Amino acid sequence: MGKLFNELKEDILYQHGMNACLNCGVCTAVCPAAEFNDYSPREVMNTVQSEDDELIIELLKSDKIWYCGQCFSCKTRCPRGNNTANVILALRRLSIRYGYFTESEKGRQQLFAKRVFGENMLKRGYTLLAENITPAHFPELGENWEYYYEHREEMREWWDVPMDLENSPGSHRVIPEKDMEELRAIYQATGAIELMDSVEKSMEKKLGSKKEVEKYWQTWLETGDSRNYEIKDNK
Ligand code: SF4
Ligand code: SF4
Repeated sequence: MGKLFNELKEDILYQHGMNACLNCGVCTAVCPAAEFNDYSPREVMNTVQSEDDELIIELLKSDKIWYCGQCFSCKTRCPRGNNTANVILALRRLSIRYGYFTESEKGRQQLFAKRVFGENMLKRGYTLLAENITPAHFPELGENWEYYYEHREEMREWWDVPMDLENSPGSHRVIPEKDMEELRAIYQATGAIELMDSVEKSMEKKLGSKKEVEKYWQTWLETGDSRNYEIKDNK
């Protein structure tokens, strides 16, 4: 049993997620993410159950742990009452804590999660604002959304909702400051802030400097695809 596995075992999400896996594959059979990606919850559970740190690290560096959509379909069918979705969350936490997430494309998308969902939450009490849903990132929303996005300033003027996002939550209601303080305290006490910091620091380590992280970020914002930023071999 390795050190990393021992740490995983301490995570309450892991404790609530893993009883014992008999490797039957029912979870993979019902998993919507497994249908479209190189991903199998059975394989994840089997790897974790090996208690082998080397195999777990390989998992933490891979895209696999980021494919789960947290739909909990696997939980309802598992004959052993396992909750793979919870085990996946514990693995993600570990991957971020140790910076392994920077080794995979899906993992590096944690920068988006941190800078958009995380920072919105700490500033305004919402994970996602309409401004964040750019047509380049969400082409599936189609022409209507593209029209709104391009004309949002004039449309908001008709609706009389603020555009000044630095000082307001835009079209969302304002969360009272007292509630915001409580929310930030929860993020602090549960270690979420620490994980958010780890995302920035680990990306800086992976790409070589803060400047490169900003270049990576800009590439993503401008092209809608972080793969357009070339990660050098030595990074
Ligand atoms: S359904 Fe449960 S027991 Fe079967 S492989 Fe998945 S986690 Fe293991
Ligand atoms: S919670 Fe994750 S692993 Fe389970 S069925 Fe849904 S996508 Fe698959």
